[in-house]
Amino acid sequence: MNAPQVPLFDIAAENQSIRHELIRALTQVVDSGRFLHGPDVTALEEELAAFCEVPSAVGCASGSDALLLSLLAFGIGPGDEVIVPSFTFFATASCVARVGARIVFADIDPATYQIAPQSVAELMGPDTRAIIPVHLFGAPAPLDELLELTEGKPIRVIEDAAQAIGARSRGRRVGGIADVGCFSFYPTKNMGGLGDGGMLTTPDPDLADRLRLFAAHGMRPRYYHSVIGVNSRLDSLQAAALRIKLRQLPRWNAARRVRAARYGQWIEQAGLREHITTPTVDPADESVWNQYTVRVHRGQRDALRQYLAERGVATEVYYPVPLHRQACFRGGNVRWHRLAETERAAGEVLSLPVFPTMTDAQQQYVVDSLREFFSGVSRRRESA
Ligand SMILES: *Cc1c(COP(=O)(O)O)cnc(C)c1O
Repeated sequence: MNAPQVPLFDIAAENQSIRHELIRALTQVVDSGRFLHGPDVTALEEELAAFCEVPSAVGCASGSDALLLSLLAFGIGPGDEVIVPSFTFFATASCVARVGARIVFADIDPATYQIAPQSVAELMGPDTRAIIPVHLFGAPAPLDELLELTEGKPIRVIEDAAQAIGARSRGRRVGGIADVGCFSFYPTKNMGGLGDGGMLTTPDPDLADRLRLFAAHGMRPRYYHSVIGVNSRLDSLQAAALRIKLRQLPRWNAARRVRAARYGQWIEQAGLREHITTPTVDPADESVWNQYTVRVHRGQRDALRQYLAERGVATEVYYPVPLHRQACFRGGNVRWHRLAETERAAGEVLSLPVFPTMTDAQQQYVVDSLREFFSGVSRRRESA
């Protein structure tokens, strides 16, 4: 099988420009012997907090753990309800099931794919203890509207910022706006580590302290456990690599932004707007384009995907099966009302390649391939 001409992402190419720095930093950690709680972990926490313009950051083992730790620190459990979108990665909802609370699935805005405040308002009830909006595909969720809904109520807002490090909602960095922000350093995120890693951000120093307690077995002082926490640490090796990546992040996010803008122009110029809808981002917000996700009209999504694959253009469907349809939640502690836009999006969305080292030639090839596919579709329609 030939390697795709345009991959969905190119982590190795991204790392190439910082390879020497990475190896030097990793070597230092190896030589220090401090693989946990090393100075790079504290330094990264401080640097990431500064980057996100938020007072506190706490490292942990993954984005999934960050979400779980938030719910643990807020004491959310059986009898409580947590509202999450159904159109997201599994971890946004599985943490709720893990702590024994009920998952309440909200629908999305069909233009942005973000959780719809209207749907959240309909689902909020006396047992609602938290909402987890996801900054999906790198674009901010409608936090202001959600915070207005929860104002004065005992409901926490947990930002799932795993896909959106560096994005801005009305000028503010995501992760620092609501009660707590959850970040992931999974390799395909905008700031990917050399393995798993995660971070929690919060404006509340007391909450930061509580998150730290829960991430360290609830142990303080040593061998005295006040709460039942978990073991979730960010390794020193990861932190050392991520500090180098954080310095590149503004440049990499800017490169993604250029690619996204160009897709919009080129798809328009190619006359493809009747076939695909390009992504919508609120003009007051700034996406960091973890994904460039289009909506494909008239049931052509899977045929287009197949065609692009044959031409060596990698694509992905995020997400083909909404979470409320997952086998593991069937008959479980879940509820929802109407998820029509979620169902429709699952059948129509397609994420095209977008990554910092993508070249003009690669991107042109993707758009040319789109044009070729749809000129064939138009011909088939006319002759039918
Ligand atoms: C990647 C991701 C996570 C989980 O992050 P991990 O570090 O892989 O555990 C959570 N939520 C969303 C929306 C994600 O995309």
